[in-house]
Amino acid sequence: MTSVLSSLLDDVLRRNAGEPEFHQAAREVFGSLEPVIAAHPRYAEASVLERLTEPERQLIFRVPWTDDSGRVRVNRGFRVEFNSALGPYKGGLRFHPSVTLGTVKFLGFEQIFKNALTGLPIGGGKGGSDFDPKGKSDAEVMRFCQSFMTELYRHLGEHTDVPAGDIGVGGREIGYLFGQYKRITNRYESGVLTGKGIGWGGSLVRTEATGYGAVFFAQRMLATRGRDFDGARVLVSGSGNVAIYAIEKVHQLGGTVVACSDSSGVVYDADGIDLDLLRQIKEVERGRLSAYAERRPGADYRAGADIWALSAETRVDVAIPCATQNELDGRAASTLAAAGVAAVVEGANMPCTPEAVAVLTAAGVLFAPGKAANAGGVATSALEMQQNASRDAWTFEYAEQRLAEIMNSIHDSCAETAEEYGSPGDYVLGANVAGFVRVADAMLALGV
Ligand code: GLU
Repeated sequence: MTSVLSSLLDDVLRRNAGEPEFHQAAREVFGSLEPVIAAHPRYAEASVLERLTEPERQLIFRVPWTDDSGRVRVNRGFRVEFNSALGPYKGGLRFHPSVTLGTVKFLGFEQIFKNALTGLPIGGGKGGSDFDPKGKSDAEVMRFCQSFMTELYRHLGEHTDVPAGDIGVGGREIGYLFGQYKRITNRYESGVLTGKGIGWGGSLVRTEATGYGAVFFAQRMLATRGRDFDGARVLVSGSGNVAIYAIEKVHQLGGTVVACSDSSGVVYDADGIDLDLLRQIKEVERGRLSAYAERRPGADYRAGADIWALSAETRVDVAIPCATQNELDGRAASTLAAAGVAAVVEGANMPCTPEAVAVLTAAGVLFAPGKAANAGGVATSALEMQQNASRDAWTFEYAEQRLAEIMNSIHDSCAETAEEYGSPGDYVLGANVAGFVRVADAMLALGV
């Protein structure tokens, strides 16, 4: 990195002390930008990087709610409106006890580049709360969502800021949030939230989009090495929305997902994960993965195990981390590389540590960063906004075809950009530079 870039990065780290995930995301992006900054002085002249790393607005608010025993509880709400050069702030809400301002900033920063890569008119933002929906009743989740929206609504709007789901926020939560927005504003403003139910403004394929999109991206990337999913054996970490639909698409393409996981353990099922059973446990019963092995003969549940270690005992061709940030470390990456895994594709946001990415890249394993590979979710959110704006509802086939086209185009723009800047096959550089150029040029055009 040039000394100008590294002193800029030092400034960012200093001004955002105590936010290690944001530091990690900023370091990763800065690590790719040297050639583009050198080739185009206009970016440095207009201090684009200084502007890009400072959110346009950061909101932190109190979220009081009453639990079922009548006790008042308090959580913290966040919304980071990071960049609106390309469109309204767009990005999910994460409800998880680990959520801090730093987490939301890391996710919001990634979202700027991801959204730019889709080619659609959406800026970058992210939000959430340290509220833990796990173990809460439906009524408690509803009261929490209503309180959260009672503050957030004033900052939202279909042309201003459009949240969606993320970890801990699915269709149920979006429904309660949208209901409260409608109640307060007296507006049926469908485009203010995405991930809505199909019966009231949602888009077909939005639920499947992140998982399907990651597999479409992987398919295009594998094709560059003359490979595909037919007959492939795949590990998918996680068992939430992203994982479930990544598994479904791999199976549709002729591959077999032999394991998935949750925060307490791993299920290994050599015959391929039974999706109906997995959905029943995770989506209907909202239960633990251990219940899967109890009901599926031949499946093996390993409490506290590392899913990636399975590649040392069984053939694995592709790994798709779909759980959470920093879930795949340098050691796991070495195991995967030694096992001859062809590709690692990030379905979650930043699931691979920097050490893991370095190990995989050095070993010649194809690596797809989340901001490119998991952009299918937010891209389909933008398609949902399009349908809302035109009061239309597309068929499943049409929405899926649009998603596949967008993922192919993201893949190709990453691959071509990497080539143009002298690092063929480097999808990290390709994604960071292609995303950066689109946002930075819009920022320049819009003035200071
Ligand atoms: N939370 C998803 C992401 O990380 C989707 C965001 C959206 O649809 O706005 O990209």
